[in-house]
Amino acid sequence: MIEKKHGAILILSGPSGCGKSTLLKEVYKNIDEYYFSISTTTRKPREGEKEGVDYFFTSKEDFQEDIKAGHFLEWAEVHGNYYGTSLKPIKKALEKGKLVIFDIDVQGHEIVRKKLGEKVTSVFITTPSLEELEERLTSRNTDSKEVIEKRLENAKYEIKYFQKYDYFLINDDLKEASKQLVSIANSTRIKSKLFEKELATIWMK
Ligand code: ADP
Ligand code: 5GP
Repeated sequence: MIEKKHGAILILSGPSGCGKSTLLKEVYKNIDEYYFSISTTTRKPREGEKEGVDYFFTSKEDFQEDIKAGHFLEWAEVHGNYYGTSLKPIKKALEKGKLVIFDIDVQGHEIVRKKLGEKVTSVFITTPSLEELEERLTSRNTDSKEVIEKRLENAKYEIKYFQKYDYFLINDDLKEASKQLVSIANSTRIKSKLFEKELATIWMK
């Protein structure tokens, strides 16, 4: 018997404040068998963020130790902080056939694509304008003016990478954007490339 769905990776990238976390909450209500990759970061927790739920918060020293020990599938410096994806839980979730969801930056996307290309589907998400991005970052009320400035500057750099992604999603109307993301997430585990090995052993022997 052929497995109907396979382990696969869905990467979301886009400027901080474009709505990735908000959209993901909508996706979780509508899909099953997923695993959200909880990153490790040296950024300080925001109000309301929980250890082991939003991130694993750590020091720069410990992060560097983890790099040396080869614990990360990928890591990058973003807005002056380190962020990384631990390899072990990802491998485990893929082996279980889950949809593994990453919220990582454009540098991380490039690395994961190089390492696990055939398993990756990626979506670049943004707001309709830079003004709207500023409005969202300001009304989220989690970052200082200086931090927001840095994130807006970085947004201009990140957007240049949009063509490296499989899909481009403008998060204007939340309901509509969620619907589109749910449909991408639902098709990620049935991409034909994921069936190659299995079909070769079952059908083509
Ligand atoms: P990210 O995870 O990409 O940094 P968030 O999900 O934290 O972004 O969203 C940033 C802010 O924008 C939040 O206050 C959120 O409520 C708001 N937001 C998200 N999507 C929309 C949308 N489609 N329209 C208006 N506001 C939105
Ligand atoms: P924030 O500080 O707003 O939570 O995240 C800032 C940026 O870091 C976002 O663009 C987010 O996608 C990215 N990011 C979060 N975790 C990781 C990670 O593990 N690796 C990489 N490369 N980027 C990450």
